[in-house]
Amino acid sequence: MSNFFTTGGNNSEKQNLFIKKENEEPKKDNSLNGQYNELKDNYEQIFIEAAESIRKELDTIKPENPCDGCSHKDCKIENKEIFAPYPPTGCKLREWQMQAITHLTGDYRTKLKAAYKAIMDKKGDYECNRCGACCKLAVSEYSYTQLKQRAMKGDKFSEDFISVFVPYETEEEARAVNPEYFELLNRLVQDDRIYYYHCPKIGSDNLCTIYEDRPSICRDYPHNPLKLLPSECSFNEWKNEVSHQAMLLKAKTDIISYYKEKLG
Ligand code: SF4
Ligand code: SF4
Repeated sequence: MSNFFTTGGNNSEKQNLFIKKENEEPKKDNSLNGQYNELKDNYEQIFIEAAESIRKELDTIKPENPCDGCSHKDCKIENKEIFAPYPPTGCKLREWQMQAITHLTGDYRTKLKAAYKAIMDKKGDYECNRCGACCKLAVSEYSYTQLKQRAMKGDKFSEDFISVFVPYETEEEARAVNPEYFELLNRLVQDDRIYYYHCPKIGSDNLCTIYEDRPSICRDYPHNPLKLLPSECSFNEWKNEVSHQAMLLKAKTDIISYYKEKLG
C-alpha cells in the first residue's frame, strides 16, 4: 500500500490536504474548501515544527567539545551546525554528519513508521457510513491504459484499481457526480493531468454488490490520512483527529530526504 514513506512526488500527493491547528478543536465542517484553506494556513508552521524537532534530535548525538585537540589548524568554521562544510577527514563534526544520516534513516525512521502505523490503526475507531462517494468518483494520476500497464508489471494497487474501477467517458460526467470534490481536485492538480473513475459494482442503494469479495483497495480506503476525501466521507473525522501528526510525519520524512541529499 502506498503512503508517504513509500511514494515519491506525484499527483496523488498533491491531495495531501488536511491539517488541524495545534490545540484547536477538530472542525465539524468537512467542506473541501475548508480542508484546502486549512492546509495553506498551517503547512509552513508544521514544516518548521518538524525541522526543529529533527534539529533537536541530532543535537542529542552531537559530540561534546568536538574541536578539542583537532589537527585542522586552519578550520575557520564558526557556526558548528549540521550543514557546515567540515573537513572530510579527521573532524568529529563530519563524523557527526555521517552519524546523523545513519540515525535519521535508521532508528529515527523506524520510529516514524511506527507512528504512522498507529495513525492508520486509529482508523479502525471509525466506520464507513456507506455514502458511496468513494465508489462513484475516484481519481488517479494514471490513465486506464497506464494503470493496465502498471498492473501487468505487478503493481498490486493498479491491479486492484482496474479490477473494479472504469474511467468516466467525459470529465463532465465525473463533475456531475460530485461537483465539489471534482472542482477541488482539479484546483489542486493545477496543470497536471488526472483521470476520473467510477465503480459499476455499486448498487442503487449505494451498497457494494460484491462486498464480501471487494479488493483490498476498497477494504483499506482511505489509504492515506492526508489524502483529500469527499466531504460526505465519515473518515473525515479520523483525518481531523490525526492530520496534524500525519502532516508532521510527512514533513519529517521530506526533511530526512533533504538531509540525505545535503550530507550524503
Ligand atoms: S467494489 Fe464495492 S466498495 Fe469497491 S469501489 Fe466498487 S462498489 Fe465501492
Ligand atoms: S466515501 Fe467514506 S463513508 Fe462514503 S462509502 Fe466511501 S469510505 Fe464509506
